[in-house]
Amino acid sequence: MTKKDNILTDTFGRQHNYLRISLIEKCNLRCTYCMPESGVLLSPKSQLMTTEEVIDITSLFVKHGVTKIRLTGGEPLLRKDFPEIITELSKLPVALSMTTNAILVDRYIEVLKKSALKTINVSLDTLHPEKFNTITKRDQFAKAFDNMNLLLNEGFNVKLNVVLLKDFNDTEIIDFIEFTKDKKIAVRFIEFMPFDGNQWDKSKLVSYQELLRQVATYYSSDALISLPNEDNFTARNFKIQSYEGSFGIISSVTNPFCDVCNRIRLTANGKLKNCLFSTSETDLLTTYRAGIPIEPIIQATLLKKKAVRAGMTDIKDFENTSNHNNRSMITIGG
Ligand code: SAM
Ligand code: SF4
Repeated sequence: MTKKDNILTDTFGRQHNYLRISLIEKCNLRCTYCMPESGVLLSPKSQLMTTEEVIDITSLFVKHGVTKIRLTGGEPLLRKDFPEIITELSKLPVALSMTTNAILVDRYIEVLKKSALKTINVSLDTLHPEKFNTITKRDQFAKAFDNMNLLLNEGFNVKLNVVLLKDFNDTEIIDFIEFTKDKKIAVRFIEFMPFDGNQWDKSKLVSYQELLRQVATYYSSDALISLPNEDNFTARNFKIQSYEGSFGIISSVTNPFCDVCNRIRLTANGKLKNCLFSTSETDLLTTYRAGIPIEPIIQATLLKKKAVRAGMTDIKDFENTSNHNNRSMITIGG
């Protein structure tokens, strides 16, 4: 099959070989930038993908060229059938990864070790327990921190996701970079993005440029090493000379990377999103349950993908609150 015929190629010739699957809409934390204060309307259980549906639909994407899968949520480890899902997905010829808040990692460590998961992104926005309580509304810092160390000690490739918020954790940027001194960990600072109900506003954003400014005031230009961009990169990566780990910046707001985008998203209720910021979705699950082939609607969804951030080409588009009526991040999966 040529690249053009492939159902996962869009009109800009981008091939989508990376599928992010949200396993669940629920979470055991309440991060303010992700979960709206008023909560979210959860899908009835009957409308969520079952274990078999997750595996079958994922396998179909793999048949059409997906080579990379990330499990996310909500909190993926809250899903009761997580062991079955990870065991089955481990049989597929793909690079498997997961994003988790790590609270339940110790419960599943043996399952994780036996699985094909080698890289795990842990979300941890602060190194201070009180600030962790403030941002997540749960007193679970020690659990998250210890479980992150457990993953490192067990030899997982750990990436630390840090959503930066002005006057909250931007004072910890250097602390996080210093954290990479003796640990083989990749810290990934993420620009705060707007989603339904998360009260995004530009004044809370810590931009790529601001972050680099802070870094330059602390480290000499000789010590700061710029690492080569990975294929289909989302983070621009750096390291400090002689430090074991590295750090990167995911700048979806001020400096997007849409021209090399290879990502599509499947929500827990079986909807396909061709972009994180897309407000339209394709209901794969209902069609699948009706026994109708889903390939044509997958292809149609891909062909509708816009060049940049679902049509939001400028930061001014982010400032327009009428563009925030996407789902809440907790029900998309980052
Ligand atoms: N519960 C898991 C976790 O927190 O790692 C997985 C789901 S969470 C939605 C996935 C990632 O999205 C997390 O790293 C989180 O920090 C990030 N995220 C959530 N809301 C965000 C926002 N408004 N802007 C930037 N990143 C966000
Ligand atoms: Fe839960 Fe992750 Fe969202 Fe925090 S970022 S509320 S841990 S889904």
